Amino acid sequence: MSRALATLAAVLCLALVPAAQAGWVSRDATVMGTSVRVTAYHQDEARAGRAVAAVLAELRRIDAAMSPYRPDSEISRVNARAAREPVPVSREFADLLARAREFSELTGGAFDITYASVGHLYSFRDRRRPQAAALQQRLPAVDYHHVLLHPDGPSVRFRQPGVRIDLGGIAKGYAVEQGTEVLRRHGIAHGQVSAGGDTRLLGDRRGRPWVVGIQDPRDPDALVARIPVVDEAVSTSGDYERYFDEQGVRYHHILDPDTGDSARSVRSVTVLGPDATATDALSTSVFVLGPERGLALIETLEGFEAVVVDAGGRMRFSAGLRDLAD
Ligand code: ADP
Ligand code: MG
Repeated sequence: MSRALATLAAVLCLALVPAAQAGWVSRDATVMGTSVRVTAYHQDEARAGRAVAAVLAELRRIDAAMSPYRPDSEISRVNARAAREPVPVSREFADLLARAREFSELTGGAFDITYASVGHLYSFRDRRRPQAAALQQRLPAVDYHHVLLHPDGPSVRFRQPGVRIDLGGIAKGYAVEQGTEVLRRHGIAHGQVSAGGDTRLLGDRRGRPWVVGIQDPRDPDALVARIPVVDEAVSTSGDYERYFDEQGVRYHHILDPDTGDSARSVRSVTVLGPDATATDALSTSVFVLGPERGLALIETLEGFEAVVVDAGGRMRFSAGLRDLAD
């Protein structure tokens, strides 16, 4: 067969194979008590759809282990029994506890999953908060050193009664990071996994950056900044998601482990970086540390940047984002 004929045959063959439709697939859902969005692009749109479905399944799997609202979750079993005996946990759960502990050490205890020892005394929906005496009585149970992780097994034990843990400051970022790994395994190079305030962007939007909007903490319809990002994680912690105001004081879901009271030196913190588990834990951490100590911490971490809206409504940026200030 001549070269020309062979080429013609190849072209005909190609024409006979129906081209898979290329495109973006996006799905919204409610998982982990929050709104989730998963987006993927692939040459073969059906493949993008399968990847998105697999990510949602992964988020639900992680929620089943980490949700304190499910009595059969690993975390609920630990909270119910670990003050009395070592409780066997999965390797994945133990690894996330170890990760949480690294952030406790990094932040001098500003990030502390045992915040929940007093955190359960609050209900933001019912406008309920502990009185000073109850808080003082339970505050000694807030200390990450009370959580003993035994690598064999692995298992978890609490050093004293009254200790409770909650992974609300890190589990969503972890789930988002795991979800992004699922996208990659499905051959996706452009996509997004978001759960509440935690987002991981995979690649770019095919030639254009993603644009992350930072919400005005006092106006749900306004943005205070728009940041172009490629292949990065972004987490925001704010005092405007779960809160109530009482006599001019805002009680919200991020607690200072030193006082058991809501942290009030900022209104919102957005952290950008290479890994959503870290940006999630760090946005909560910087919220507790406040603008000065929080931004100083971010400057020590390579690859991380932050935007803080302080208690007076002023914007503050880490060094790598200062050009956004203009
Ligand atoms: P969201 O859950 O709204 O995305 P964050 O990422 O800021 O917000 O996490 C806030 C959650 O972190 C709280 O709901 C609570 O579960 C948990 N948390 C509160 N205070 C602390 C703290 N000092 N250290 C670790 N986790 C905390
Ligand atoms: Mg966080």
